[in-house]
Amino acid sequence: MPKVAISACLLGEKCRYDATDNRDDVLITKLEGCELIPFCPEDHAFGTPRPTMDLVKTAQGSRALSNKTGTDLSFAVEGYARSFFDTHTDVDIFIGKDRSPSCGVCSARLYDEEKNLLTIDEAGLMAKEALARGIECFDAEMY
Ligand code: SF4
Repeated sequence: MPKVAISACLLGEKCRYDATDNRDDVLITKLEGCELIPFCPEDHAFGTPRPTMDLVKTAQGSRALSNKTGTDLSFAVEGYARSFFDTHTDVDIFIGKDRSPSCGVCSARLYDEEKNLLTIDEAGLMAKEALARGIECFDAEMY
């Protein structure tokens, strides 16, 4: 049975920044027969609801900065991602919510420090960790 790590909001968990979900029933049906391992780095790190954050190109690389305070929130998401994949070492597939700065695989928006949009095909911080570990990764809308 394939093991699929998946953004929890896609399964109906109300863990988005505004305490809503991104439930995708078509995707859930496609994944019947798979073992689903949900994750939500932002809920774990910051709770729900929470301020939004954006990926910003800085001298330190792509960082997730709070839209409320400008604080670099990346470390908590990256730490969660490392711990998640250290625990779940046998994940076959990663499915992330498209466009998320944490979970998007090749659909996250990257801004410069003046908030100009640079690209729309960046990997979010958790997806980046999955890609670095050689896991097959998909944006939800592309699966
Ligand atoms: S996209 Fe990722 S971080 Fe955002 S609510 Fe869904 S699982 Fe959590």
